[in-house]
Amino acid sequence: MSLQQSLAAVRQRIEQAAKMAGREPRSVTLLAVSKTFPASDVAQAAAFGQNDFGENYVQEALDKIAALRPAWPALQWHFIGPLQSNKTRDVALHFDWVHSIERLKIAQRLSDQRPPELPPLQVCIQVNVDGEASKSGVSPDEAGALAAAVAALPRLRLRGLMCIPAPRADVAAQREPFARLRTLRDAIAAEHRLTLDTLSMGMSADLEAAVQEGATIVRVGTALFGRRAAAGAVQP
Ligand SMILES: *Cc1c(COP(=O)(O)O)cnc(C)c1O
Repeated sequence: MSLQQSLAAVRQRIEQAAKMAGREPRSVTLLAVSKTFPASDVAQAAAFGQNDFGENYVQEALDKIAALRPAWPALQWHFIGPLQSNKTRDVALHFDWVHSIERLKIAQRLSDQRPPELPPLQVCIQVNVDGEASKSGVSPDEAGALAAAVAALPRLRLRGLMCIPAPRADVAAQREPFARLRTLRDAIAAEHRLTLDTLSMGMSADLEAAVQEGATIVRVGTALFGRRAAAGAVQP
């Protein structure tokens, strides 16, 4: 399948799931996860109307952003991987979104380092919905306190929550952790009086379940660009 065909197929999956859930398909943003794939693939997707791209590795992403910004200045770049403190400046300078906030210290650095001439960096808090020891993200119990602290940072704009659940066999089972993330988002928004309009959830294998539970951003790599080489497939 060509990239044009797989983009159309993924958009179709989103549209069908949205319709089933009585949602407007446009309320779901497709984030194309281009990690490990070259800038030429991103340019091709951009030419087919794809606007949002997700990256996990800072240096790889910076190279692509530098190569593509001149021709495609309006693309939105989302950082979705684990973020160490020595990389926050690069992310604050070059990205539009960060989905993987799990520590206040990292959020503070991003806020401090976000240049004043750029709009605030849009961020989501990553929640470890399944409590897996090996997975990134804050526990559901700690998410509210972190959200309140992040929302107070001047150069960040907290948009919502993100999760990467453990794989599950069928759509009914896949929906369960996504429903919990939505409930948690609603509870945090009410308790801390925050506007949280974003649920970043759903990937190639479970995007229908996520859309049915209210995802506003689905992060899709494999179904668009094909399988990643093993060495690059560190995340999730
Ligand atoms: C790699 C990655 C994705 C894309 O996963 P696919 O299964 O290839 O669609 C989504 N989200 C995160 C955080 C990732 O690291």
